[in-house]
Amino acid sequence: MAHIALELPTIQNWSCHNCGGCCRQHAIYITDAERERITAQGWHDLPGWPVERGVIVREGSRQRLATREDGACIFLDEQGLCRIHARFGEPAKPLACRVYPYAFHPAGAGLTVSLRFSCPSVARNLGRPVTEQVTDLQALAQAVLPANYAGMAPPELARGQRVTWERLLEGVDALDGMLSVPHVPLGVRLQRIAVWTGLMEQAPLAALREEQLAALIELLYAESEARVSSERAAIPSGMGLRLFRLAVGQYVRHDTFARKPTWRDRWDFVWWGVRFARGKGLTPTPHPRLKAVAFTDLAGTFGLVTPEMEALLTRYLRVKVQGLHLCGRAAYGESLFDGIRSLLLVISVVLYVTKWIASSGGRIQWTLDDLVEAMTIVDHNHAYSPALGTSSSLGRVRLLNTTGDLPRLLNWCGL
Ligand code: SF4
Repeated sequence: MAHIALELPTIQNWSCHNCGGCCRQHAIYITDAERERITAQGWHDLPGWPVERGVIVREGSRQRLATREDGACIFLDEQGLCRIHARFGEPAKPLACRVYPYAFHPAGAGLTVSLRFSCPSVARNLGRPVTEQVTDLQALAQAVLPANYAGMAPPELARGQRVTWERLLEGVDALDGMLSVPHVPLGVRLQRIAVWTGLMEQAPLAALREEQLAALIELLYAESEARVSSERAAIPSGMGLRLFRLAVGQYVRHDTFARKPTWRDRWDFVWWGVRFARGKGLTPTPHPRLKAVAFTDLAGTFGLVTPEMEALLTRYLRVKVQGLHLCGRAAYGESLFDGIRSLLLVISVVLYVTKWIASSGGRIQWTLDDLVEAMTIVDHNHAYSPALGTSSSLGRVRLLNTTGDLPRLLNWCGL
């Protein structure tokens, strides 16, 4: 087996704690070989297995594991464990189940590894350091690796400006460095990044020599430091808030749920969108964890962002940036700079949903647990929901950036 150069997140731990969350949230699409293997496992011969219950569902040219009536995987047992794993061991499961919550992305000659924060153990940083799981990750990487990964073109650095892998990764390192500046509040770090990307993309990046790019990164970062200290954010515009609430509505939707959306679901999505845009009265309830609360309540403050909350938000951003989980094939074909802007919006959305969870529980103070839960809901969709990859959703982030509302929203949401 050829060795693959893996870039691992050094700040992240993970082990599965068998909460069964992923088995309730994801549609598991399988290959023909996996279908044959699972069909041959003889589930219908088990005592008590309902005869009418199939284990595979065909959807056009694709096929997936069947689900129970509540949407959970057909193989999830009463103890919240996987029946395939229990009877035949971990390698007998579909690849999609074995890879989750990891995500692998081509990065020149190697692969970067990122994680999905929809898994509560990832969000809470529980388990073994990822850097100690190299053997398992090598095996998974071999299984998911596209044959031509080493020849893949890098994502654009800025929209319309493609550079070499080396220079793109220099941009990634620069972003990671800006995210990890010590003793600077996260809100200030993110506002500097918003200014820096705007300045950077005005330069002819593809035409710069290596040392020129490095010098420009430094120079414009110094400029962003100076501008942010004198331009602390104002209130978002009315249009910015409408666009933001629309984004919230999409990030909390459950539309990668393991069943096909019905016409009723589609109508709900449209009607919820109208109500989020208006922002009056009570919120819709697009997610089982979120109750109807007054939009006006969510505009208020729910307390300070504690150091633990900042640390979680920072780790989230750094894992996504280091793992290239924000641009190119990993995120709707976006450029690195547009990808980091989408993540700035995600942070505002996560904080808003954190308030919503607290408010759903009748509280006016948010907690670290609320933030963890909000992150699992929002990251379930980020870079995966088809609704967030449409031109109107991607254009919304660009518009919020152009109007200056992206940094204002961060401030308005509590950073
Ligand atoms: S959501 Fe995470 S912790 Fe829970 S079962 Fe899935 S991988 Fe394990």
